[in-house]
Amino acid sequence: MKNNIDGHVHLENGPLTKEYVWEFVRSAQKQGITTLHILDHTHRFFEFRDMYRGVCQSADVQKQWFEKKQVNSIREYQALIEEMKKEDFPITVKFGLEVCYSPENEEFLRRALSSYPYDFLVGSVHSIDGLLYDMDAFSKELLWEKQDPSTIYRRYFERLQAAIESDLFTQIGHPDVIKMYNYDPGYDLVPTYQHLAKTAKEHHVKMEDNTGAHYRYHHADVGLNETFRSILQKEGVAIVSASDAHYPKDVAKDFDLLPE
Ligand SMILES: [Zn+2]
Ligand SMILES: [Zn+2]
Repeated sequence: MKNNIDGHVHLENGPLTKEYVWEFVRSAQKQGITTLHILDHTHRFFEFRDMYRGVCQSADVQKQWFEKKQVNSIREYQALIEEMKKEDFPITVKFGLEVCYSPENEEFLRRALSSYPYDFLVGSVHSIDGLLYDMDAFSKELLWEKQDPSTIYRRYFERLQAAIESDLFTQIGHPDVIKMYNYDPGYDLVPTYQHLAKTAKEHHVKMEDNTGAHYRYHHADVGLNETFRSILQKEGVAIVSASDAHYPKDVAKDFDLLPE
């Protein structure tokens, strides 16, 4: 069966409980998923607070957003993972984190992530120089309408490249999601795609074919941009299907529209 892995689903909008995990597992099973990667953002956990100083200092709305997201200790999540390892799941279920990557946090992350044996680690770029790029409520005003989109695209992909090279991650989250608001990058992205693909192959990092921007932000691409996907395939990079579900009902969402 095609795309029978969902490599990226969030507990974000629910409690860190056995019952909530099972809701995702049941939904996955119903969709024909045989391997499910459960995670949550590092910004949920108090222990990663220092990484978001730039985001909080850059704008009050971002600080308010961040304070609402901080709800648990990483120890609660790790305790849940240990509890879940005793469960008899009908499919393979793995537990990891989606880490907000920024080069200046690399040393902190190296320590923080090596202190617990996660099954997988997704590295994602969610901000550009302290500014979040994907918030409907304020990102256009704070970032997209203030800076040249080509600069934003360049800085995004530079960070993504560094995330791959850091060797901190097994997988890269939504690699080309920066396209989500359809701003024109103003330059040819093919050399960037080629460089990313080569590096991902060298560092044995998987790249996500993530449907989140399609059903959450209505982008025309179902997952990866077609050119990017074919460059990754040609380079032999492992591609993992990912729904970025934030609710159990969205597990494997739109996987039927992804290419085989
Ligand atoms: Zn993400
Ligand atoms: Zn995500």
